[in-house]
Amino acid sequence: MRGGREIWTILTDTGQQALGLVSEARALGEEAGLRCCVVLVTADEVGELAALVGAGCQKLVHLEAEGREIVFYRPIAGTLASLAREREPRVILLLSSLFGRAVAPRLAAELQTGVTADCTALSMSREGQLRQIRPTFAGCFNAAVICRRTPAIASVRPGVFTARLYPKCALSVETVKLQGQPDVFTLVQKVGEGADTIGLARASVIFAGGLGLGSRQNYEELCRFAFLTGATPAASRGAVAAGWAPYSAQVGQTGAVVRPRLYVAFGISGSVQHLSGMSGAERIVAVNTDSRAPIFSISDAAMVADCNRVIEAGIQKFSREGLS
Ligand code: FAD
Repeated sequence: MRGGREIWTILTDTGQQALGLVSEARALGEEAGLRCCVVLVTADEVGELAALVGAGCQKLVHLEAEGREIVFYRPIAGTLASLAREREPRVILLLSSLFGRAVAPRLAAELQTGVTADCTALSMSREGQLRQIRPTFAGCFNAAVICRRTPAIASVRPGVFTARLYPKCALSVETVKLQGQPDVFTLVQKVGEGADTIGLARASVIFAGGLGLGSRQNYEELCRFAFLTGATPAASRGAVAAGWAPYSAQVGQTGAVVRPRLYVAFGISGSVQHLSGMSGAERIVAVNTDSRAPIFSISDAAMVADCNRVIEAGIQKFSREGLS
């Protein structure tokens, strides 16, 4: 494929993270003279389009898919590949959600091109190629990747881009039907909570707990404190690996990327992998017994204290007085 005049964003919803990616695609498209096209894969009617247009979408293709479950990933990727062969987008972007992680490699295989997973930054080179940045070696380095084939396919960590506001424009909308049969898999049962971290990434106040909490019971107390104050509980990978918190609560390189207004870290050391998921917070408060803990280097407020005592005091105060 030669690589034509479009940059695609393949989405399954039009939430804030999706809109952030559309805005990034539009900005990249403007740099390289590419039209920003959204391919929306959904079984539902396409509803309100103003948000998509505002985020920068210039063309919409609605792929009417019966479902987004594992049984449909192959036909979805197949249909997207046929479309891409016909229209030759130069770049295809997806979110690193369950859907994006399942579809991006299948699509790349169909189109015999490369995919860079879990990017945290994107730009266009002078030659008009997509420059993809992704953390590597446990977040110690960033790799810059350029795909020599087109389309370049990248999945992007949810939450790294925020939506911008573009002027209104007339949007062309086209509907395409899903081709092919469900995959060879049969969905038998869904087990546990979803591994997607979309909800967490939207939270505006987060209380996150780490191994410094000392026990699962103390993590539950942190959750109680969070619920009392309207915050969303989260965890370090240490706390998730200890079995105190579900994976969907994990913040960091292999969890969610969050950008809340306030992030309070209780008993979290501040490893590079954790920081890569939360350093974009507007305000960071850390509670740690070790005054040299790395988390303090990026905190706006530091409390050298036992986090469990702080949580306990907080629960007492808010249960007595409520939010005022
Ligand atoms: P620790 O590093 O053990 O820190 C505990 C902290 O609690 C210490 O600073 C200690 O001083 C403090 N403390 C102890 N007692 C108390 C107390 N009573 N009150 C207050 N403070 C106290 N980590 C993530 O978080 N997210 C990721 O997505 C992630 N991805 C990774 C990917 C890879 C490839 C690798 C190799 C690692 C990844 N990690 C990730 C793990 C990361 O390197 C750390 O091991 C992990 O973040 C540590 O979790 P923690 O801060 O809870 O625990």
